[in-house]
Amino acid sequence: HNIWNHIPLAKPDPILSIIEEFNRDGNPQKINLSVGAYRDESGKPFILPSIKQASKILFDQESDKEYTSINGSLDYNRLVKQFLFGGFKSGKFFIEQDRIVLAQSLSGTGALKLSGEFLKNWNFKNSNEIFIPSSTWANHYNIFKNCGLKISQYSYIKNNSLDLTNLLKDLNQIPLKSSILFHACCHNPTGLNPTRDEWLEILKIVSERELIPIVDLAYQGFESGNLQQDLYLVEMICNKIANDEISTALICQSFAKNMGLYGERIGSISIITQNSNQTFNIESQLKKTIRSIYSSPSIHGSKLVEIVLSNDEIYQNWQNDVAKMSSRIKKMRFELFNLLNSMDNNLNWNHLIQQNGMFCFTGLSEQQILKLKNEYSIYSTLDGRFSISGINMQNIKYLAESINKVIN
Ligand code: PLP
Repeated sequence: HNIWNHIPLAKPDPILSIIEEFNRDGNPQKINLSVGAYRDESGKPFILPSIKQASKILFDQESDKEYTSINGSLDYNRLVKQFLFGGFKSGKFFIEQDRIVLAQSLSGTGALKLSGEFLKNWNFKNSNEIFIPSSTWANHYNIFKNCGLKISQYSYIKNNSLDLTNLLKDLNQIPLKSSILFHACCHNPTGLNPTRDEWLEILKIVSERELIPIVDLAYQGFESGNLQQDLYLVEMICNKIANDEISTALICQSFAKNMGLYGERIGSISIITQNSNQTFNIESQLKKTIRSIYSSPSIHGSKLVEIVLSNDEIYQNWQNDVAKMSSRIKKMRFELFNLLNSMDNNLNWNHLIQQNGMFCFTGLSEQQILKLKNEYSIYSTLDGRFSISGINMQNIKYLAESINKVIN
């Protein structure tokens, strides 16, 4: 008996299949602009010096490899809560009032999964629908779909700019009490984010329609270079909750990019509640969910985070490491912009420097992206997104010249 013959081959993940193709390519000038992971100026992955420092301390200090609590260690929870919410007034108030449920998660993806499960379990009767930006990280769709939520999109980008008019129009039609996902900063893939004033307009509708905001905080530090400054959307939402204009929010946070701890799978989910009774009950439910999926989280990454967040010197070094990564990316963005402008083409490249974060949404067509790959060994996703950290002073001229050739 054949039992599994009916199982078709799943479509490969688009980014992972680009990497496989890149690895097979023998061209010495090949460039990989597909992966959303930081590369240094020589094109190599690297471990942040501050994290090396924390790793040494952990190696000397670690005394056990026991299980941690279902929702992560008490220290991790306290320190991450302080890191995310302790830097502004409304957040501090929520910490004091015990109005934040926080659990360690398997990086940002795990936090999003726990959010989806939470919404399915507890907001389902109000609404089973979640709205995501049209054009977003592809996994948002997969994660929430697997949680059983209905997924709809709201407008986000038009002509390489934020499409605020249609975004607001769409938001005004969202069914009451639905959930809505926002990128806290450094929107992936477009690099476009609303301004503070535009966020106020958006949050006004969130309040009017009693929507539940889910904030995806995967690139904290890469927009301004400053970890605390990049919490602006979290702060704006917390201020609205403190004013009773919004009832709750879910924050899905990741240390993958800003600590370079990609493979450690370390992050957090926070749920802002209305009082400590809700906090107590919600925490118990979140633990029940976690227990049934993976029992308890892994400990190595969380111990590193605890060291970084509890040691002033290492924290400062970490902040400096983040500033360096973000400024190298910004520099490459401007260099590419200048090179393309200096070349013989009549296109407007202003959007490249209006965007923020790890990605540059070039506006190149799928055909042009394929040409870049097939003729110049430059690999990126078909939507025209470049992961800027794959660019460095050695390959930028070749990249700009190749782009100039495919568009002419
Ligand atoms: N959210 C966004 C927008 C992302 O781009 C990513 C990763 O690329 C994630 C979440 C999740 O990353 P991780 O699970 O590695 O923290």
